[in-house]
Amino acid sequence: MKYDHNDMTVLGVIKGGAKTFGSIKARSGLKTEQLEQILSILDKSELIQTGEAKGLFGQPKPLMTVTEKGTQQVEEYISELNKKWRELVGLAVQGEREKLDEIIKENPFLVNMMLFYQVIDLHTLSRLNLRFLLEGKRLCYKCKRELGRFSQKFSVKDVRKFEFKLPRGMTTHDDLCADCFDNLKGTWESRY
Ligand SMILES: [Zn+2]
Repeated sequence: MKYDHNDMTVLGVIKGGAKTFGSIKARSGLKTEQLEQILSILDKSELIQTGEAKGLFGQPKPLMTVTEKGTQQVEEYISELNKKWRELVGLAVQGEREKLDEIIKENPFLVNMMLFYQVIDLHTLSRLNLRFLLEGKRLCYKCKRELGRFSQKFSVKDVRKFEFKLPRGMTTHDDLCADCFDNLKGTWESRY
């Protein structure tokens, strides 16, 4: 059985000490229905076990803990993430931008999960200019500044339209901030 990033987030949250439905929900950020589904998968796979405590009004309150099998699953997953991280760094060092994009396209939450399981930290990601690999973060391709919802973004199409020189390795998945786009102006003049 292959577990997806949400399964592994929930398992990690429980392993980190969240026992009740409410605390697991808060820490995983998942919706109730989705979390119920995942808990049922983890329970059926015997990665977690459910005990019972008494709630505030004496009502039964399920308490989730990670089983030995679950712990093993987490350890295997972390070692897999470590291996993948070394692969990503290797590709980044070699400037293999396309291969990096391919890996992230196949597994968009890979780097997010590395952060979650503390295989890497944000500081390291920034230092290596790899923050763009995070899902849900749009960064300028050149300066890696974060592109907010309302900031101007310039795509490959815009660069071509103005006949600027395309930054090396920039793809149609990437955007530039206004400053970096402005800085490309010189590349046009120098061609003539
Ligand atoms: Zn920029």
